[in-house]
Amino acid sequence: MDQTELQVVRAVEAGATTMKGIVDATGLSRLKVERALSTLEKQKFLIRDGQGFRPANRRAPPSPSRQCGTCNACCDILEVAAVDKPVNQLCKHWQNGTGCTIYDRRPQMCRSFVCAWLQGHLDDDWIPEKAGLIVHFSQDAVNVTVDDHCPDRWREEPYFSKLSEWSLNGIKRIGNRGYATLVVSGENRFMLLGRTIVPEPTLFGTAFLPLTPDTFRFWRATSPEHLQRLHERMAEIERIRQEFGSCAIPENEDDDPQAPYRPALLRQSNHV
Ligand code: SF4
Ligand code: SF4
Repeated sequence: MDQTELQVVRAVEAGATTMKGIVDATGLSRLKVERALSTLEKQKFLIRDGQGFRPANRRAPPSPSRQCGTCNACCDILEVAAVDKPVNQLCKHWQNGTGCTIYDRRPQMCRSFVCAWLQGHLDDDWIPEKAGLIVHFSQDAVNVTVDDHCPDRWREEPYFSKLSEWSLNGIKRIGNRGYATLVVSGENRFMLLGRTIVPEPTLFGTAFLPLTPDTFRFWRATSPEHLQRLHERMAEIERIRQEFGSCAIPENEDDDPQAPYRPALLRQSNHV
């Protein structure tokens, strides 16, 4: 960020919301302020809305030491429905040397998007244009969208271990602002349970039990009722563990258990 941009950011943070207010507060020419605002908006340090200018998302601002620079990965890799931009296709509004050609009227998603690297949550191995993947947060998920030139990059290190770690944190917090860790790579979708990869998770949910501290057995539900049955069986497994010290975990990933669960679980566990 150069000196002019810094002056403009400070003026906005101090409460200037209009061009005149920023010009008055900084003593800079209108042209310089306009240029700085354009850069700062593009780099998501500032947002322009109905009330004028304001600092970008206060809860998760870009790290002051980071800028998009030459990266345009979000204009290439992410889906932006508002401009009919599919995943992994450079936006029709992007022009080399110019950048976004509809910058002043770009959709809200483009205005507000800040990736996890730009927010300062990840080290420089994760710069999207180099890593070939973009990590971004939504209310209840860590989302990873992968460049289709390197569809398996997320399985490589240092990426996979970090994503597994985040996934475990999200699982531990279930019921208390837990979150899922989701990967989209081309046509394929995955959910991480620690180091266990769930391919094509269903909309109905996934039931899972730990096998080791960072791996899980999982069952993908095919209906809300199926998910309910899976959870009831898992509760029975927990009860048997408490009673006998151990319980077999059914192997079949796609099974649809029917109550009563206890007799079969006791037999598989050699507790009868
Ligand atoms: S992916 Fe991140 S660093 Fe790259 S342009 Fe988008 S917000 Fe900036
Ligand atoms: S509209 Fe502009 S900012 Fe949005 S994806 Fe296209 S080029 Fe990028």
